[in-house]
Amino acid sequence: MPGHPTAAERKFHLEYGRQKLAQMRNEGILRVEISSSRDDQVCEECALLDSKVFDIDRAPLLPIHEERTIFITDDEEREIEEAIPICRCAYLAASE
Ligand SMILES: [Zn+2]
Repeated sequence: MPGHPTAAERKFHLEYGRQKLAQMRNEGILRVEISSSRDDQVCEECALLDSKVFDIDRAPLLPIHEERTIFITDDEEREIEEAIPICRCAYLAASE
C-alpha cells in the first residue's frame, strides 16, 4: 500500500528521537518540549503531548507512531482503510 514506510524508513524514523535527544543532551539541554505540527492532521495522541515539557531522560521517543490507519467511506459507501501521515512531532529546548 502506498504511503506505508519501508523497513529502512522506519528504522530512520526511529533513530530520529534517539539522535536528536543525544544531540540536545550534548548541548547541555536538560528539558525538552514536544511540539506537534499543530495543524488539522495532528492526531489526538500527538495533540495531547503538544507543549508538554519533559526531563530529557524521560522524554517519549519520537516519532510516537509511524502511521495511523483510519477508516473512511468511499463513493460506493464501502468502508476502506487509509493510512494517515506519521507523527511529525519535534523536540524543542524547553525555555526555563
Ligand atoms: Zn506526533
